Amino acid sequence: MDESYRITLSEKELPHAWYNIVPDLPEPLAPPLNPKTGKPVTPDDLKPIFPDNLIAQEVSQEPWIEIPEPVREIYRLWRPSPLHRARNLEKYLKTPARIYYKNEGVSPPGSHKPNTAVAQAYFNKIAGVKRLATETGAGQWGSALSFACRLFDMQCTVYMVKVSYEQKPYRRILMHIWGGEVYPSPTDRTNAGRAILEKNPNSNGSLGIAISEAVEDAATHEDTNYALGSVLNHVLLHQTIIGLETQKQLKLAEEKPDILIGCVGGGSNFGGFAIPFVKEKLDGKLDAEIIAVEPTSCPTLTKGLYEYDYGDTAGMTPLMLMYTLGHAFEPPGIHAGGLRYHGDAPLLCYLVKKGLISPRAYTQNPVFEAATIFARTEGIIPAPETSHAIKAVVDEAIKCRETGEEKCIVVCFSGHGHFDLAAYDDYLAGKLKDYEYPEEKIKEALKDLPKFPTGL
Ligand SMILES: *Cc1c(COP(=O)(O)O)cnc(C)c1O
Repeated sequence: MDESYRITLSEKELPHAWYNIVPDLPEPLAPPLNPKTGKPVTPDDLKPIFPDNLIAQEVSQEPWIEIPEPVREIYRLWRPSPLHRARNLEKYLKTPARIYYKNEGVSPPGSHKPNTAVAQAYFNKIAGVKRLATETGAGQWGSALSFACRLFDMQCTVYMVKVSYEQKPYRRILMHIWGGEVYPSPTDRTNAGRAILEKNPNSNGSLGIAISEAVEDAATHEDTNYALGSVLNHVLLHQTIIGLETQKQLKLAEEKPDILIGCVGGGSNFGGFAIPFVKEKLDGKLDAEIIAVEPTSCPTLTKGLYEYDYGDTAGMTPLMLMYTLGHAFEPPGIHAGGLRYHGDAPLLCYLVKKGLISPRAYTQNPVFEAATIFARTEGIIPAPETSHAIKAVVDEAIKCRETGEEKCIVVCFSGHGHFDLAAYDDYLAGKLKDYEYPEEKIKEALKDLPKFPTGL
């Protein structure tokens, strides 16, 4: 029996290619639609804000896409990331299950997000782009992109939702250290921002507004592109490095997973972790349950409709076929800021629709309880987003205790929570509210879905 606590790969074993599941799906993915014409988006529609090389990845039918050497070099600052056996947690739960966690919290910004930030900065750099514009909520994506741009000597402009800019200074400081310029959104730098400020000079901002500002900045400056941290095919593609490494590590440990678990905001860490295993499932080589966890306050996969909807609040982005709570959905202020998107990656939604992935949702307090158990046994403090996945691990491990099944449970540990300690403070003080997004409000937000056929 393997006695390891950490299953590590040498730098030489860092994968040489990302895995693109799109050509291996049983049927083609429904295309994104141009919101003005209702016709499939063409590469030309995307050119004002994305470079050709990333547009090619977005629509690629190649199953393997080589990771360029300069990207692999930067990955090697923290990759391959360790796969830990959570032996202390197993003992605490008195479970016969074997629990493993893939630790993406070891990256410099502390989450999985630089896996795609570094790749996106590189492909823009070689396309001659000088500056990337983006939005950020709590700051995980903005800090990952600032880090990546710094390493490739590019400028980074981040539109940070104003209320987070004011209330959550630490990731803003990270962005400044890595040389990003950060503006509290809405700003007076864009038409989108000015229009909001005219109506409400004290606007707190929202992710939807910040997206509109970043996209406008990119579309109106020749040397500037836009970068998105989740949802798109090329983002999930870059994140498959997580699952590909995990497959190698499980092989070293002589394990086959029975249950795979991750949390879902837009679907990038979960997709990147799970997709290489979904391929094994499609090929009949793996019989594992794959569980996607979301908050009950933003129950996209568990309560949303599978329909075409806009990616942003303002209705400017292409329409995507996905589970959605409606682009008018207003997420309540829970602490897992990264899990509050109204939709999810169309690729992930397709896999859920096909029954290859099972979604479930939890409220905040049980999530923080599980995270605290994890911190007290394994030592590492999970990000509030990651803690949703940890809650599912604890539940599944307890089920194994009750049934005596010796299952192998593997979870994607998407990031650490060192900049989210205020959330733990609120939990420990008993101040967190459990919240289920009410059915009527979901129905209301779903009323303004654009009318396009789903093709199903
Ligand atoms: C951003 C973030 C998430 C949610 O985003 P996905 O695209 O769904 O992965 C989850 N965990 C952490 C730590 C994050 O920073």
